[in-house]
Parts: sequence; C-alpha cells; structure tokens
Amino acid sequence: IPLPPAIYPDRANSRGLEFGDRFQLATLLEGMSKATQTVEAGPLAPGTGGETREIRSPSDPTNVIGTVRFADPDVVDKAVAVAARGFRSWSRTDVGIRSAALDRAADLLESRRDRFMALLSAEAGKTLDDGIAEVREAVDFLRYYAARSREMFSDMRAMPGPTGESNRLGWRGRGVFVCISPWNFPLAIFLGQVSAGLAAGNAVIAKPAEQTPLIAHEAVSLMHEAGVPKDVLLCLPGAGDVGAALTAHPKIGGVAFTGSTETARAINRTLAAKDGPIVPFIAETGGLNAMIVDATALPEQVADDVVMSAFRSAGQRCSALRLLFVQEDVCTRMIGMIEGAARELKIGNPSDPATDIGPVIDEAQREMLAGHIAAISKTETLIYAGEAPDKGLFFAPHIVELRDASALDCEVFGPILHVVRYRAKDLDKVLDAIDATGFGLTLGVHSRIEATVRKVVDRLDTGNVYVNRNMIGAVVGTQPFGGSGLSGTGFKAGGPHYLMRFAQEQAVSVNT
Ligand code: GLU
Repeated sequence: IPLPPAIYPDRANSRGLEFGDRFQLATLLEGMSKATQTVEAGPLAPGTGGETREIRSPSDPTNVIGTVRFADPDVVDKAVAVAARGFRSWSRTDVGIRSAALDRAADLLESRRDRFMALLSAEAGKTLDDGIAEVREAVDFLRYYAARSREMFSDMRAMPGPTGESNRLGWRGRGVFVCISPWNFPLAIFLGQVSAGLAAGNAVIAKPAEQTPLIAHEAVSLMHEAGVPKDVLLCLPGAGDVGAALTAHPKIGGVAFTGSTETARAINRTLAAKDGPIVPFIAETGGLNAMIVDATALPEQVADDVVMSAFRSAGQRCSALRLLFVQEDVCTRMIGMIEGAARELKIGNPSDPATDIGPVIDEAQREMLAGHIAAISKTETLIYAGEAPDKGLFFAPHIVELRDASALDCEVFGPILHVVRYRAKDLDKVLDAIDATGFGLTLGVHSRIEATVRKVVDRLDTGNVYVNRNMIGAVVGTQPFGGSGLSGTGFKAGGPHYLMRFAQEQAVSVNT
C-alpha cells in the first residue's frame, strides 16, 4: 500500500503515523535503517570553519552520529556579502521559477522521507510518529509558501483612485534574511522559516540550533539540489555567537527567530542598537500554555488530550500543555485518569514503533527538568513521577498539583504537567491567572457549555485556541500557528499573512 503523499491542501499532513502508514511500518523501518549513515556537516557558506564537534544521539550518547564544523563568527561578514549578491539576482527571478524550486524541494523531501526520519530519530530523538509528522509538516511549509508566493507576488496590483495616473502596488524581498531556528523542530521550523524567506524573494542565511546541525545541513543541501542557488541560501551552523554576529550585522534585511523569549529579547536589543536599516523581527517564542477543564467535559477525551498535549514529544513543543485547570468537582477523578494513562506510556528508543516518548535533547535540559521537580516538590504536591531508562537522556512524565497557578512562573520545557483545581464560580480568576502569565501561545478548553467556551475565547488573546481537543500539532495552512505577548510577534507561521513580514511593499505611480 503506497504511503499517502503529503499534498497541500487536500489533507492534514502534519499528524503523525496515520492508518495507511501503519500497514507499512516494516518498510518504513527498513528504509530508515538503510538510510542511517553518519554525516559530516560544515558551513554551507564561504570561509573557513571554526571548532569541530561530534554530534551524539540523545537516546544513546555513546553513539556518534556525525561531526559538524561550526562556522567561525568571523565569516559572517563574508557570508552577508555573498548573500547580498545572491539577493540581487533572486529578487529579480520570476516568482514562478522561485516557487518551483520550493515545490521541487518538497518532492525531494518526500522521496527522502526515510533518510530524514532516520536523522530526526538519531539527532533529535524523534519518535516515528513525530518524525513522520515533521517531514510532512516541512513538505507542507514548502508547498504552502510556494503557493502563497505565487498568489501574492506574481503581479503588481492596480490601485483605484482619482489621480489620473497608473498606480500599482507590489511586493519585493527585503534583502538578506537571517533565520535562527530551534532544536525541537529541526526540519519543519527550520525549513518553514527558510522557505518563507526565499518565497518572499530574500536571500537567507540560516543558523540552525547548536544541537541539530546535521539535519539542517542535509535540508540545505536538498534545497540547493532543488534549484535554490548557493549564494541565495547559506547555512552557518554554530553556537549563540554565530547568531549574535548575524543579528548584529548592519546589512541584514530582517530576522526570523523561533526559540526562547529571553533570546528573542536579546535579539530585539541587538537590532535596536545597531546601524543600518530598521528591519523586521519575526519571533515565535515560549508559552505557559493552559487548558481549562470544567465538569461538563468528557473525561476519557480529556485524559487522552491532556496526555497527548503535555507528554507527546517529551513535552518539547512550545505549544505543549503546562498548566491544567480542572473544576474541583471532577478534579480527583480526572487526575486519576490522567495518571493512569501516563503510566501506560512507553519511554525509550525513539525508533521502536512501540515507543511513545523519546529522549530530551541534551543533558542540560534533563538537569533543568530534574531541578524543577526537586524545587517545586518542596512546596507543591508531586502526584506522579514516571520512570525513565537510565541509559540515554530520558526524562519521564511527571504530574505536580499546585495550590495556586502562581507557583509556576516560567515555561518548563519538558514532560511536566502542573494541575490546579478551581471552583466553578472562580472561572474569572482562572482567566485572570492565565492572562497574568503574559504568554499567549496555545490554550485548551474542554467544556460542553457553549457560553463558557465563548467567554474563555473572548477574554484571552492567546494565539491558538483548541476547544474539546488536544492543543498541539497545528496543521500548516489550516491552523496558522503563533502567539501574542511574551509568546511572539506574529504573523502566524503556516498562515496566509506570514510572508508579508518577510517582504516590503512598493507603490509605483506613473503619469500616463
Ligand atoms: N507548531 C507546533 C505545534 O503546533 C509547535 C511548534 C514549536 O514547538 O515551536 O505543536
């Protein structure tokens, strides 16, 4: 049975293993194991490299899966000069030709699904479900932005008006766009930013997360193979110093960043302080995401959706559920069901089809999570602590009951669920507490009372609201993704307006 292709917009592709996929698990696993080979990555840009590092698999850190030569921050100047040259020709290239390269990249990516899934599993610890969803999401981003760019950028728009002249409005690229991406979606978010930048007519310098340079290297090589010129898309793997040098450069045309709120603030400061043009900053940052469950919710569905939202991908999604508010009348029962479901989760080798939760990305993350549990259990109630294999960087699901939502004041990026009981008459206080976090990325509501749902949605500015379902896995083109406040600047990734921030308008008035 052939794997259903990812074809935007006919179906929701970003959803993990689907029914058809399960018929061919053996083929998929065989494909992945054949496609497993070590990678040697380096800057896909001119100039010499800096330090060489071994990349180890988070599920088995004794396993070296490749090496990467980091870019030296000194090459940034040269890279920007090359990309600025690339921009001049790419911005004049016909939109049809530019978008065809992105469509070709989508085809290539689909044909190399097994290879990318093998890499996602080895370098980022992705389970099969997460790996296949991520490849499909990346394919969707490429096709979606290609299609949007044809729609937006093909022709200048004739403007109405009384001047008696010909007035037309069009879009152009902004120059050299810097794309800084996270390790938790090293293919989908990486290629999402890159393809948006390119689709809008920019040259792009990509700086992948320090932890996942090998996937980025393969993805950029694939884009080159698909027809994006090498001076139009450059890749500079490295640590924060490379990103800092790029954002401080006076000749860049904009920055797209996905990562922590703290880093976004640092980038914002850098952009404000430097010389050169005033450039747009597109940031998608963290969340302190809440779900509200009232006494009318369907308990089995809540249990399933909570486990999925809080623990899938080891909680390493910025959309993941962190703070669960449950009406006190049903809370004890609800917690029991969630705990029961959490106990069933299998933690371990991400390429084993039975595995639900793979490793966390690195030792620093594991230590941070263990430190959070140690600190919070001093004052709050630790309800459930799962067990994780000791070999590999695993961290099991935990459930903590808080006396008050204010006991959690920052995003904890991992499989830890915090639960707060509330009285039905205190729903407004719950909404105030969510608002007071300052974040606004995702929000879940489980209620069968329409007025309650309406009230919650009206009161909060959260970017993505999910009613009576789980709150992760936004589908490109269908559920545009991104938050407000401390969670990001907008526009939403995978939405119809995203490309606008990557482009600039030009009005041409001709006296006829
Ligand atoms: N778009 C992803 C989702 O809806 C989350 C992206 C992220 O974690 O940065 O789950």
